Amino acid sequence: MESTNFIHDIIDEELSSGKVSGVYTRFPPEPNGYLHIGHAKSIVLNFGTAIKYGGKCNLRFDDTNPAKEDIEYIESIKEDVLWLGFKWDALYFASDYFDKLYDFAIRLIKQGDAYVCDLTAEEIKLYRGTLTEGGKNSPYRNRSIEENLELFTQMKGGKFKEGQRVLRAKIDMSSPNLNMRDPVLYRILYKSHHNTGDKWCIYPTYDYTHPLSDAIEGITHSICTLEFEDHRPLYNWIVEKCGFINGPRQIEFARLNITNTIMSKRFLKRLVDEKQVDGWDDPRMPTLCGIRKRGYPPEAVRDFCERIGVAKGNSEVDEGFLEHCVRENLNLSCQRAMAVINPIKVVIKNYPQDKTELLNFATNPQSKDSGVRQIEFCSELYIDADDFSLNPPPKYFRLTKGGMVRLKGAYIIKCEDVITANDGNVECLICSYFPDSKSGEDTSGIKVKGVLHWVNAKKGRNMDIVTFSSLITAQSGGQLQVNPQSRAVFKNAVVEPYLFQCPDGMSFQFLRTGYFIKDCNKFTEIVKLKDTFNK
Ligand code: ATP
Ligand code: MG
Repeated sequence: MESTNFIHDIIDEELSSGKVSGVYTRFPPEPNGYLHIGHAKSIVLNFGTAIKYGGKCNLRFDDTNPAKEDIEYIESIKEDVLWLGFKWDALYFASDYFDKLYDFAIRLIKQGDAYVCDLTAEEIKLYRGTLTEGGKNSPYRNRSIEENLELFTQMKGGKFKEGQRVLRAKIDMSSPNLNMRDPVLYRILYKSHHNTGDKWCIYPTYDYTHPLSDAIEGITHSICTLEFEDHRPLYNWIVEKCGFINGPRQIEFARLNITNTIMSKRFLKRLVDEKQVDGWDDPRMPTLCGIRKRGYPPEAVRDFCERIGVAKGNSEVDEGFLEHCVRENLNLSCQRAMAVINPIKVVIKNYPQDKTELLNFATNPQSKDSGVRQIEFCSELYIDADDFSLNPPPKYFRLTKGGMVRLKGAYIIKCEDVITANDGNVECLICSYFPDSKSGEDTSGIKVKGVLHWVNAKKGRNMDIVTFSSLITAQSGGQLQVNPQSRAVFKNAVVEPYLFQCPDGMSFQFLRTGYFIKDCNKFTEIVKLKDTFNK
């Protein structure tokens, strides 16, 4: 996959023509929820662009709506950006600019570019018109500058009720662009703000705040998602009317959508509130704290965001591609180990009962300098129930009654007898081994097709292993539904003693199974071994 980034093409051209002399970007989340993978695309784009051009990137909280915002979210957003590996040049809050924004509003009023309007929200909507019909001027549109200044000061002073008056830009009620039909700049809200407390009872709107925050910070490229394309004329109007020359340029790109993944904060919040998941950081969630807990390495997430490219047209990325990037990363970085999810006992009757033997086990054949670790072999082992069949289909290379396989890094064994319980379930396999078939020094001349992973039954430790499947499943008719079986816990799993002792947060490739991370005395699945991504 060759990645492309049209924004970098634009910047290259601007730099070479001298239109800009440097690059300053910002990542501007609203602190009203946890970040998801879609935000990672924006983070990588904004911070990555600054790094690429030797510029700067700010983290700015767009906190103009005190009703929906919370400090909890601010902390989590900072943590997520740092986790992805980026450092902001400056940290700002749009609310840091409330005084300046107020002064700019006064300036607009004095220029005759803004007015106080007494229409209700309902009436404003009616007067605005539609896509096919022009709007109507507000009866308050021609108030004198003095009256507007007086009323706006009174709004700030708490003289009116919520919804009683707003400040509007005076642009053009007949503009084909609805955003230019005298948009609201300030509304009255008697709400405490996490940053400014009760200092303000009027709050600037997003459309007014965003361009000015960018301009105040000296942002050169204000990168945002496509839904803001229609807001660009208003963005430019505000920047120009407030006297900025060579102000920031807004560039829109397509949001990231991933198949079978819903990233809307509202939907994710519902899953949390309804307890369909353990919380925002449930490993099945597409939130950044969720995939961090899942064990996705930040390098893999960055790699994914870069490889999908940046384009102007909306599209959907296969969920398998994110997993592919994670798998590629883990394949190179993870140690190999053995764990048996559904154990059945193997007793090797011709191996001395009190003997143990240390065997060499390659920790990661994909990485040249990773070396070997020793594992202990003995007469009682576990293999996975899936690796044995009493009635094998054709071309079954795993173990069968009378059949032979190699145990990874150890010996070839033959299944001589099968002990079943009353219910017919296989309880134990009685096997023999070939002493001259040891891995690396095999002189037995026996050829087998299957190689199975195993765990020493005397030294292995019981630990829960948790696997996942998609949290969301596509239903017929295209409807998406929450999958009630998206998590499976294997209580009988057995792991190498090495895995039992390793610290929390360490990731492994379990041979023939998948990638797992240790978390609170259990192993949870990061990604399956098998690649479903179709290049
Ligand atoms: P949501 O719609 O999920 O609630 P949002 O757009 O309201 O997200 P913000 O906090 O406003 O969330 O987003 C911060 C930045 O991240 C914005 O610049 C926004 O455009 C960008 N962003 C949000 N979702 C995506 C996405 N799916 N793909 C790319 N960028 C995104
Ligand atoms: Mg938003």
